[in-house]
Amino acid sequence: MIVFDLGCENNHRFEGWFASGQDFDEQIEHKLITCPVCSNANVVRLPHASHIRTSPSPRPASRATPGAGQQYANVGNEVFVKLVEHIIENTEDVGPAFPEEARKIHYRETAERRIRGTASREEVEELVDECIEVVALPIPAYRTGKSH
Ligand SMILES: [Zn+2]
Repeated sequence: MIVFDLGCENNHRFEGWFASGQDFDEQIEHKLITCPVCSNANVVRLPHASHIRTSPSPRPASRATPGAGQQYANVGNEVFVKLVEHIIENTEDVGPAFPEEARKIHYRETAERRIRGTASREEVEELVDECIEVVALPIPAYRTGKSH
């Protein structure tokens, strides 16, 4: 048995018990379900209360879970993957030569372009010290070519 939350045209809410989803479909189709309050037969299935997505509620306490991997929590994973893909499509992979290339570009020793690659934490800190903009991105391993 399954239970569905149902509603009629007059905004009455009630529950309906059915043998299966197919049973529900058949009863709905033949208008066998009527509102117990007003006998209205235009009954629709309502999303279960616990599955309704309401507008953001002011509950900052429940969101305060900082930590590794949490900084993109406000962006849907799908959106984030697209963003990473976009960056990958629009940058040149220089691999481990990244710090060197970033420096060359910064000091105009080579053509200015967008690059990506790998760098150690220390190398990144050095670049930042030299006012070279570096953005750390968790690029999926399958897109970097090789693991390090
Ligand atoms: Zn009703």
